[in-house]
Amino acid sequence: RHRLEFQLESVVGQPAVTPDGRRIALMSNVDLPDEIESAVRVGAEGVGLLRTEFLLTGRAVLPTEQEQVDYFRRVSLAFPDHPVVIRSYDVGGDKFPSAFRMPQEANPFLGWRSIRVCLDHPEIFRAQLRAVLRAAVDRRIQLLLPLITTVDEVLQSREMLAEEAEGLKRAGVRAAESLPVGVMIETPAATLIADQLAEVSDFFSIGTNDLTQYTLAIDRGNARLADRFTPHHPAILRQLDMVLSAGEARGIPVSVCGEMASEPLSAVLLLGMGFTTLSVAPPSVPLVKWVVRSVPPTAA
Ligand code: PEP
Ligand code: MG
Repeated sequence: RHRLEFQLESVVGQPAVTPDGRRIALMSNVDLPDEIESAVRVGAEGVGLLRTEFLLTGRAVLPTEQEQVDYFRRVSLAFPDHPVVIRSYDVGGDKFPSAFRMPQEANPFLGWRSIRVCLDHPEIFRAQLRAVLRAAVDRRIQLLLPLITTVDEVLQSREMLAEEAEGLKRAGVRAAESLPVGVMIETPAATLIADQLAEVSDFFSIGTNDLTQYTLAIDRGNARLADRFTPHHPAILRQLDMVLSAGEARGIPVSVCGEMASEPLSAVLLLGMGFTTLSVAPPSVPLVKWVVRSVPPTAA
């Protein structure tokens, strides 16, 4: 363990390259502002999943557009040479910000959550889209849409983004005119129409936490079922393969940002399947990079 710890420290400044020379983009997930610095310190190559729900939790009022711009720019400036993927509000399910006045539901994880809430509350969604566009001036910022189950949700979101970009331009506000829009694949529905989603997406990011939950019909937070909750189930592995193939067929990048990528053995599996972009929790970056650099290609 002592030897491994030493190796993990030394791996931080080295590139994430497999022994057979495959370059892996090893990015970090960032949930809270505190994690920006740790993600930089461990050498993450940008942020593959910037969760934005903390902007809402523990407060009664919504964040202003400017507050969001400031936060997104702060994250982006911390990674001057790498992309930052901002996920739109993924509220509902286990995240109940009071500002949204979420209703009591019998099945919140199957309920009014995530992109559904955003599309039903365009005034809130549009403010976030404007903030992303404004933050993206001269920065490599991308937008990621969570819990997508239909092509129409992507088209509607893109239309709103384009309208907001146009509005900012008309108003003379400095903002990006467009930016890459990605889709989270985290429901079996999204996997099964991945070929269609690929036609309206610039990239895919696979959320294996929800994908496992919705495929296996196992609540991701239920401790009693924790040993049954595994992304190694063949139903998940097949979906990972299907999504990667759908992305490759259309020529769009496919990454994995669920917890699975942070777990060393699962990371080996993902590398072996052909994934080249992983986004992991900041403390896992050195270990996953060590895995990338160590695992012989034949073993993967
Ligand atoms: C996922 O579902 O795998 C994911 C990355 O999103 P979250 O954990 O925030 O639901
Ligand atoms: Mg999710």
